[in-house]
Amino acid sequence: MAENFTHRRTFLKTSAIAATGWMVFPSLSCSVSAKTSAAGRAEDIPFEQRPLPYSYQHLEPTIDALTMEIHYTRHAAGYAKNLADALKDEGVNTQSVSLKELLTQISKYSSKMRNNGGGHYNHEFFWASLKKPSDNNLPPAELNDVLQKHFGSFDNFRNQFSEAARNRFGSGWAWLVKTPDGKLKIGSTPNQDNPLMDVSELKGTPLLGLDVWEHAYYLKYQNRRNDYITAWWTVVNWDVVLERLKKS
Ligand code: MN
Repeated sequence: MAENFTHRRTFLKTSAIAATGWMVFPSLSCSVSAKTSAAGRAEDIPFEQRPLPYSYQHLEPTIDALTMEIHYTRHAAGYAKNLADALKDEGVNTQSVSLKELLTQISKYSSKMRNNGGGHYNHEFFWASLKKPSDNNLPPAELNDVLQKHFGSFDNFRNQFSEAARNRFGSGWAWLVKTPDGKLKIGSTPNQDNPLMDVSELKGTPLLGLDVWEHAYYLKYQNRRNDYITAWWTVVNWDVVLERLKKS
């Protein structure tokens, strides 16, 4: 109970700082829901790891609790720790540069900074993109229209994104981004790179990302990456994707 209380308190503080989330859902400002928290956390990712906006069980059965726990407390925590070390070693003043700004000029830094800065950012972004699973989890009409305009239909979008995730060889991420010229684009990045990085072939503002490292799915899905990808669509928080699009 004590742990939950601390978790919630830290979380409330974080949410208050991410004021944009409250502005989007002002009527919910007196109660903390996964929906508000995720929207508020969708941007301005800090250098430190934040508490998960939900329990390890929250995404079951799509993503099992043990995978979530290991993913969050070991893998993602490791990236955050190594990022902190790299920032210190390379003399970065985190008061004068944001994580996002650092990623846009990542070629100036070490591979340790690249791997762990990306790893930390990507996971914080990923947690904020997910919600309790639901069947027939479709985007709101406003987002559906945009996806239809860019990809022909929502199904086309989903198929193309799934294909990018399936075809990423080895470890990496699939992304939906808004490109600098205002188009929506699907692609993928290797390792812990992301589309904010100057070294990335795929460039743009990330709207949605899918972790296809084996650590994200192996306990439940073993080698069946495609089954994980198919199931993952049940936990996408479309409200957050729409908010990111509006703010991009
Ligand atoms: Mn991961």
